[in-house]
Amino acid sequence: MTDNTALNLASETGAQIIPLYLQSDWSGSSHWTGAKRQQFLVGCLESLDANLRFIGGRLIVRRGEAIAELGKIVRESGAEAIYLNRDPDPFGRRVEEKLKAVAPEWGIRVVDCKDVTLRERAEVLTGSGEPYKVFTPYAKNWLKQAMPTPGRRLSQITVPESVRSGPLPALGDWGLVAEGSILPAGEKAARERLTHFLNEGISRYHLRRDFPIESGISRLSQDLRFGLLSIREVAQRCRATEAGTGAEKYLGELIWREFYQQVLWHFPEVLTHEFNEKYRGMKWPGSSAHFQRWCDGQTGFPIVDAGMRELRETGFMHNRVRMITAMFLTKDLHVDWRMGESWFMQHLVDGEIASNNGGWQWSAGTGADAAPYFRIQNPWTQSKRYDPEGRYITRWVPELQTVPAQRFWTQPEEGDRLANDYPEPIVNHAYERDRTLELFKIVGRG
Ligand code: FAD
Repeated sequence: MTDNTALNLASETGAQIIPLYLQSDWSGSSHWTGAKRQQFLVGCLESLDANLRFIGGRLIVRRGEAIAELGKIVRESGAEAIYLNRDPDPFGRRVEEKLKAVAPEWGIRVVDCKDVTLRERAEVLTGSGEPYKVFTPYAKNWLKQAMPTPGRRLSQITVPESVRSGPLPALGDWGLVAEGSILPAGEKAARERLTHFLNEGISRYHLRRDFPIESGISRLSQDLRFGLLSIREVAQRCRATEAGTGAEKYLGELIWREFYQQVLWHFPEVLTHEFNEKYRGMKWPGSSAHFQRWCDGQTGFPIVDAGMRELRETGFMHNRVRMITAMFLTKDLHVDWRMGESWFMQHLVDGEIASNNGGWQWSAGTGADAAPYFRIQNPWTQSKRYDPEGRYITRWVPELQTVPAQRFWTQPEEGDRLANDYPEPIVNHAYERDRTLELFKIVGRG
């Protein structure tokens, strides 16, 4: 409702508006989403409908194939134009292209707006007009450009009475049932999270952001993902705090989000292939049994299991732990990063194709500006550095509650269990590390 570029532009025409949610009609399971994110979406749509009603309108919901449903609604309503915010991912892009192709036939205009990022597509290019493949020069160039200012909050809307709406979506529509305990959805909750972070977190963000037990991060990723907050407002309010290094570091993280979105825009093949061409066709000999142990948080590596259980229970995982678990899957278990990418998409409330793919390819060593393949994080030393008292680990792995934190810093000898009801490590980190180096060297040699 606030600073939504397409909605604001449409409302400026003074015409009646049909705020439309098109619900896709898949059911059962999806490679790209799951119950927790769909539940958050359902909550967001309920809140959006309530907010629209408060200013005189309502949300119109239709279910089915996007172009077919849009065609129907244009014919029923005599709409003159469709306003939309451009989607950076290839799926949304395909729908937009189809829409633009049929619009002349339907006799309507399509007005597409930049909204979800501060810079998009070809706005930040190298001196020779190429897209950036490396983050630091991209960020430097990104920072030179002017910051767009936020738009207004919609205060009034008229929706034509004759347009019928289906019911608001429910989890059961996709054959899903509620699971886990997720953050409250909707714009009001997102706004509260932003205010809390600006008051309590941003000034020390750079010091606390890497420690998963600390509440030093913003927890705004799902709010940006679903458009509950506009990126212009978040960036502007952060800069206005004068939080110095904390605000700078935070803005830097928002630039990572933009970097991965432009990678996906320019190189949509990253969704199926390794970004680094050298590693395409690489073998990932990991087993499905190991993948399952990783999904279940039963690997015997406490920090990995803590992260995987946090993800399952809350739909969230701290960034530091996302890197540890993703590197562990690809470099200790040698499982194809695409399997982990999909598992994350099915469980993360903030699951977003570009950042998730970027994070996975970074961790696997195959991505744009990725961690080089020979830099392999050791889960034990990562625990020592980022969870020295073991508070994060024991919060999510209660079997380890009475185990001294130092035991999480080095891999136990074979046969030495951390707790009776906790599994032994399923692999030896030092051994698997060498194996990864070998696998990368083989493919690197071509
Ligand atoms: P904060 O630390 O408060 O960061 C502020 C904002 O910056 C975030 O809300 C997010 O929008 C952005 N951001 C921060 N780090 C990154 C990053 N590395 N890449 C892109 N954007 C970033 N983020 C998602 O939003 N969706 C995903 O599906 C996703 N999948 C990931 C998968 C892996 C394997 C990894 C390593 C990272 C992934 N990230 C993803 C990035 C990051 O982990 C989350 O954005 C962050 O943990 C969200 O918590 P926060 O909002 O408190 O972050």
